Amino acid sequence: MSSELEDLYQEVILDHSRRPRNFGELPDAAVRVHGDNPSCGDEIHLAVKFGPEGNVADLKFTGHGCAISQASASMLTTKVKGKERTEAISLLRAFRSLIMEEQNEPPGSLGDLRLLAGVRKFPQRVKCALLPCRAIEQALEQTTSESSVSTESEA
Ligand code: ZN
Repeated sequence: MSSELEDLYQEVILDHSRRPRNFGELPDAAVRVHGDNPSCGDEIHLAVKFGPEGNVADLKFTGHGCAISQASASMLTTKVKGKERTEAISLLRAFRSLIMEEQNEPPGSLGDLRLLAGVRKFPQRVKCALLPCRAIEQALEQTTSESSVSTESEA
């Protein structure tokens, strides 16, 4: 591995990709989103359950993909779980900017997610990191119970 790639696959990221948090089925989910990233072959099935106040009560994912997509899904679901909907949406926006734009001081609210900023140097990996983000955003916005997103429809 080049040193750049070593930077990218830091211990925390590797740990999340090997033992993804929130991986599994959520039988009583209110919303399901299927996301795919054909350029890498990553796939995510995301299920979200909302609390009485509309907060993200629980979310889980299944699917398969590269280390970055799995780590991103694991880290994002961990971060978003329990949050108010508006809080979750602003966190996802902050994550998206982190992955796509050079930033001197990424918001501290992102926590460990900041470790994924390294993917900016690898355009193919950007889609991998963004796939779970797109899926969660979609789940928070949609009113139907099922839908799908693809990194190929990225504006
Ligand atoms: Zn990937």
